[in-house]
Amino acid sequence: MVSEDAEAPFADLHTLLHEFREMLEGTFTSLGFPTIRHEQFLEVRAEHFAMACRMQAVQKKLPRVFQQISDFEKTWIRYFAYSAVGFTVFAYLLSCVFMRQIEHIDAEVKRQRYVRT
Ligand SMILES: [Zn+2]
Repeated sequence: MVSEDAEAPFADLHTLLHEFREMLEGTFTSLGFPTIRHEQFLEVRAEHFAMACRMQAVQKKLPRVFQQISDFEKTWIRYFAYSAVGFTVFAYLLSCVFMRQIEHIDAEVKRQRYVRT
C-alpha cells in the first residue's frame, strides 16, 4: 500500500520497489528457497533493491540525454545543459541512497508542525 500524499519525490516508486522485493522473497520462501537467511536482512535487501532499480533506470537513459546535449550548437548552452543534467542526476542519486532518511526527516517536520498547531 503506497501513501497517496507521498512526501519525498519518488518515495512512492521507492516504496513500491521495496515492497515488490519483499513479495518476491515471500514467494521464494514459500517455495522453500529463501534467498535471505535472517528475517532482519530482508529490510536491508529490499532497500538496496529499490535503490539499485532506481539508479539503473536513470543510468539507462543517460547516454541518450548526453547524445542529445552534444548536438547543441552553442557551447555555453551545451555546458549549461551538462551541468543541469549532472546536478539533477546527482540529486536524484542522493535521493536513491537517502530515501529513508529523507522520509524520516519529512515525517518529523510534519509531526512538529502538528504539535505546534
Ligand atoms: Zn520493508
